[in-house]
Amino acid sequence: MDNKRKPYQLVSREWKKEDTVIKLKNTEIGGHNIALIAGPCAVENEDQIFTICEFLSKQNIKLLRGGAYKPRTSPYSFQGLKKDGLILMRNAADKYGMGVVTEVMDTNLLDEVYQYADILQVGTRNMQNYQLLRALSKIDKPVLLKRGMSSTLEEWLLAAEYILSGGNDKVILCERGIRTFENATRNTLDLSIVPLVKSLSHLPIIVDPSQGTGVRELVTPMSMAAIAAGADGVMVEVHNHPEEALSDGPQSLYFDQMNNLQIKLAQTALINGRGIDFMNAQIMQFENNL
Ligand code: PEP
Ligand code: MN
Repeated sequence: MDNKRKPYQLVSREWKKEDTVIKLKNTEIGGHNIALIAGPCAVENEDQIFTICEFLSKQNIKLLRGGAYKPRTSPYSFQGLKKDGLILMRNAADKYGMGVVTEVMDTNLLDEVYQYADILQVGTRNMQNYQLLRALSKIDKPVLLKRGMSSTLEEWLLAAEYILSGGNDKVILCERGIRTFENATRNTLDLSIVPLVKSLSHLPIIVDPSQGTGVRELVTPMSMAAIAAGADGVMVEVHNHPEEALSDGPQSLYFDQMNNLQIKLAQTALINGRGIDFMNAQIMQFENNL
C-alpha cells in the first residue's frame, strides 16, 4: 500500500495499532474467537423466532440476527413486523440468553430499535445515509456497518469514520457482496477486501455469505473462505422452514446444515490461530476423533 495520508483517520491502523474488540454481554467480536451470528432474514411470527432462537442457543450460538424493519426492493414484499418483531426477538433472545442484532433503517426509528437491540445493523442501502451514521455516532451500542453494494473500500471506511468521529468507536464492518456483471450469484462476495481491511483498519470485520451469494449451498464454503481470509466472524441466515420463509428462503440454511457449518468454522478458525465460542457436543466429538 502507498504511504500517502488516508482520508480516514480514526478507523485507521495508523491511528490505533491494536485490534478493536467489541464487548457484549455474552460474547465479544474482534478478539481471539471468531463470532457466529445467525438467525432468520426476518422475524415472521412468535413460533418461528422462538423455534429458531431455541435451536441456535442449543447450538451454543451467542448472537441472534433478524430483521423487524426490512428494506425490501419491492414495496409489495413483506416489510417486517416492525415494533412487534423487535419485541418478539428481544423476548426470544432473553429467554435463551442470546444477544440481538437487528437493522435500523431510519433515524426516526433509532430510539425504538436501540431499546431492543444489542447491535444495530446498518443495511447496505443505508451505508451512505449520513444522517443515520451521525445519529449512530451518538449512541453507546455497537453498530454493524454493512458495505454498500456499490461502495469502494474508501467510501466504506469513511462511512465508519462518520460513526467514530461522532464518538462511537464500537463499529463492526460487514462485507455482504457487491454488484458486478455476474448474475449466477445474488452478489459477488468480495473476500479480498477482508485482509485489506485488516491491514488498513483496527475495526473488526465479519462476512455475510447469505446476502453475499443468495444460495444456501454456497454459504458454508464461503464462510470458511471468509475465516481463512482473516475475518472476525460470519453472519448467516437460518430458518426452521426455509421454503416457507417470507424473505430470503433460498439463501437460508436448514437446521441440520448449522452443525456442519459450525464444525467447518471451528476447523478453519484453528488453522488461522483463532478460537470459537460456539463449541457444542458435536464439535467436541469431532475434535476428539481427530
Ligand atoms: C439482511 O441482513 O437481511 C439485509 C437486508 O442485509 P443487506 O443490507 O446486506 O442486504
Ligand atoms: Mn436477508
